[in-house]
Amino acid sequence: MNKKLVYSFAEGDGKNKKLLGGKGANLCEMTQIGLNVPPGFVITTEACLDYLSADKFPDGLMASIRDAIGGLETATGRKFGAADKPLLVSVRSGSALSMPGMMDTILNLGLNDETLAGLIEQTGDERFAYDAYRRFIQLFGKVAFGIDDEKFDEHFNDVKERAGVKADIGLAAEHLRAISEKFLLVIRQETGDEFPQDVMRQLQLAVEAVFRSWTGKRAVDYRREFNITPEMANGTAVNVCTMVFGNMGNDCATGVGFTRNPGTGENEMFGEYLVNAQGEDVVAGIRTPRPLTEMEKEMPEQYAQLVELRNKLEMHYGEVQDYEFTIEKGTLYCLQTRNGKMNAAAQVKTSVDMFSEGLISKDQALLRIEPEILEQLLHPTLDPDSSDEPVAHGLPASPGAASGKCVFDADLAEKLGNTGEQVILVREETRPEDIHGFFAAEGILTSRGGKTSHAAVVARGMGKPCVAGAEGIDVDVALRMAHVGGHVIHEGDTITLDGGTGEVYLGAIRTLEADFSDDLRTLLEWADETADLKVMANADTPDAARRAREYGAMGIGLCRTERMFNASDRLPIVIDMILANDKDDRKAALGRLLPIQRKDFVEIFTAMAPYPVTVRLLDPPMHEFLPTEHDLLEQIENLKVYRRVVRGRNTAIATLDHAVKLPEALEELNEEFVNDALARKERMLRKVRELEEVNPMLGHRGVRLGITYPEIYEMQIQAVLEAAMECAKQGVDVRPEIMVPQVITLQEIQHVKRTAGRLVKALEAESGKTLNYKFGTMIETVRACTRAWHLAEVAEFFSFGTNDLTQATFSFSREDAENKFLPMYNEMGVLQDNPFEVLDTKGVGKLIKMAVTGGREQRKDLKIGICGEQGGHPDSIQFCHDVGLNYVSCSGPRVPVARLAAAQAQLRS
Ligand code: ADP
Ligand code: MG
Ligand code: MG
Repeated sequence: MNKKLVYSFAEGDGKNKKLLGGKGANLCEMTQIGLNVPPGFVITTEACLDYLSADKFPDGLMASIRDAIGGLETATGRKFGAADKPLLVSVRSGSALSMPGMMDTILNLGLNDETLAGLIEQTGDERFAYDAYRRFIQLFGKVAFGIDDEKFDEHFNDVKERAGVKADIGLAAEHLRAISEKFLLVIRQETGDEFPQDVMRQLQLAVEAVFRSWTGKRAVDYRREFNITPEMANGTAVNVCTMVFGNMGNDCATGVGFTRNPGTGENEMFGEYLVNAQGEDVVAGIRTPRPLTEMEKEMPEQYAQLVELRNKLEMHYGEVQDYEFTIEKGTLYCLQTRNGKMNAAAQVKTSVDMFSEGLISKDQALLRIEPEILEQLLHPTLDPDSSDEPVAHGLPASPGAASGKCVFDADLAEKLGNTGEQVILVREETRPEDIHGFFAAEGILTSRGGKTSHAAVVARGMGKPCVAGAEGIDVDVALRMAHVGGHVIHEGDTITLDGGTGEVYLGAIRTLEADFSDDLRTLLEWADETADLKVMANADTPDAARRAREYGAMGIGLCRTERMFNASDRLPIVIDMILANDKDDRKAALGRLLPIQRKDFVEIFTAMAPYPVTVRLLDPPMHEFLPTEHDLLEQIENLKVYRRVVRGRNTAIATLDHAVKLPEALEELNEEFVNDALARKERMLRKVRELEEVNPMLGHRGVRLGITYPEIYEMQIQAVLEAAMECAKQGVDVRPEIMVPQVITLQEIQHVKRTAGRLVKALEAESGKTLNYKFGTMIETVRACTRAWHLAEVAEFFSFGTNDLTQATFSFSREDAENKFLPMYNEMGVLQDNPFEVLDTKGVGKLIKMAVTGGREQRKDLKIGICGEQGGHPDSIQFCHDVGLNYVSCSGPRVPVARLAAAQAQLRS
């Protein structure tokens, strides 16, 4: 059976974009719902593929085209290639996905010396006819024979100059006629042949050219750039459409429209048009088009037709449309429609509006928006009108834009920040002890590290913009400056970051505030009603908790207590605790930390009530709270030099013959003080060396620390429970959950649970009140996944820590992988994605499924969630939904994205 290769607009299936291309399918659909589309037909993408594989016109295709042309002749009462009432057509490409500007359209096909004369006679408009002819010759030459525009433009400009006119519109018929004749010469010179006079041959050559353009460089590059696979779009269809003319006088026009304002989503007529012009003129920028709204006065009748067209399009498609139209002698024709591309704000607004107008259902309103784009709405952005050029590029590590004064260390950032100065913390890379600088900074810029570097992860958690790994920047902390290309940035100079693009600018650029609109709120409420999965936030401080709440978090899935340890008022106490010589010393330091942690918890619980807050006990290895060996050695060296200076000064003073009084500060910084400082630094250095591990991430951390130094976890649990008790007394509905990290065996959690049980008993006895709390574990080791059934005996909830679990599954360390081989793996296709960004559902996912099954077999109502970085990624969320998790937890600003993704996961399953 021969397959059908040609469909008239009246018969093609408007849903089959794969076969008919997007443009063709919509032309069919519009024709069939009664919109005024000029008659035409579609040659299928299959015909294109046949042509390309056999390198010849498919059998029977020309006959089908002839038939279809016959159909057009009947419909229009014109004749293809005849002098009397000639039929002219456009030949337009169009694949399943729109590939803007990829392939050229040929207009006015069917003109030759004979039909030209007919056209003149029929319209009585010589100028119009020659204008159409010269356009056709040039486009045909370009598309079918690959002749450069310049070859034609040369002659065109020549005639224009000689005629002394500036705009094309000033050319008279005789000029256009001269131009057409020159153009015919160009064709002969370039091809060695006459311009084809046989209109069927014109058509065949044009169709072949469109077919071939599919494998042309422009199109191939475009598909590669945007990852368009053959499953998404394979081959291009060819649309042959009866010409209508917008350039036959002042009752003619052409234009493009959007059914709503794509910038704001406002429900209004939007678009541009030109009177007396042909298709391409609007986009070509030859004349300045006018806003559609002006058409209401200028052509009221046609404007009314246009409003009707717009309403019908939206009503039918239930989606904002981007359409093209032409008015020929007062009659409106629609030449194309497709779904409109809009920015995030407009997408949200149109979803909410179209639902309330009854155009779409709530499900459609939720499904039509790509969750990721919501992020645009939650962060300040750079003023799009600014024309500044970036001086450096890094990785877009945490979205948002910010300007501020450069500061090269965290202490100064904190100091200036507290005085109300806007600062950007600029470092080679950051470490946990820089955390106070993050709090004070508007944004963070590093010259090393990837999207999951410390700087990136912490900045995302705080919702602050971060550009990481901007290798073009050379930071010299000692000299307090940085070099970027030919520029020098001194401390205090203003710079601007765009964490969404990774760009760095000199000076201040205006930023536009994020706007959590009522429409977004409404849409996300619908999402919550629909979704099964709950969305929680990773939040470590009262401030972050409050912000997460604003983003709509339904609890905290991960509160990392070590982040609380890093604030500048606590770190010295934590260091005392680490340096402690014995248990009593350690307990004394912990005793000082207890009230501080308790206060944090009270605030966090209060901010989150009545939702649960999952507190993870201390996780990182202790050395992370101490300076590096390298820094300590330098500090010790400096102190020794200073001690010699003090001694020298004392000697000098002793040789004076009169007494002097040193300034108070110098009195204080005496030898005794320096000796004390040295002793402390040396003790730190010994400790740092003692704590040094070959593989700290696989070493003494997590529950291993909790078991070897039980007083640490004891203090933390005490702080959680006391805070909960305090909140309960004030009538706050608290739901604390205590979570143990790095667990591999039931015995570990039993051990910690016993401590918790003892403390709860004591507190309850003391207050006479009962405490409601949950006890659970992270699942982030491979062994925990395999032993989930056992762990659930004690654990009331599981939380997958997919960062560590991914490292464990791949036997990669994240930093080494991302800095060394992972980019190449991704590029070569050895691994499709970065598993630290996109959950590896095939490998890590299998372990997750195993743990879910095991855990729920033991404990039916086991609550299970995920708290890794990937928890905010829509694809991971779909997976979490499918395997039956109860919640995902992600950084605060990802919460809205996750809420929409959770609803879509529900709707898609
Ligand atoms: P693109 O995909 O680049 O938009 P189109 O095939 O839509 O290309 O055509 C380019 C221009 O030519 C558009 O402005 C379109 O409206 C106009 N055009 C296409 N076919 C016709 C036709 N049959 N009559 C009048 N104008 C047409
Ligand atoms: Mg178009
Ligand atoms: Mg972990």
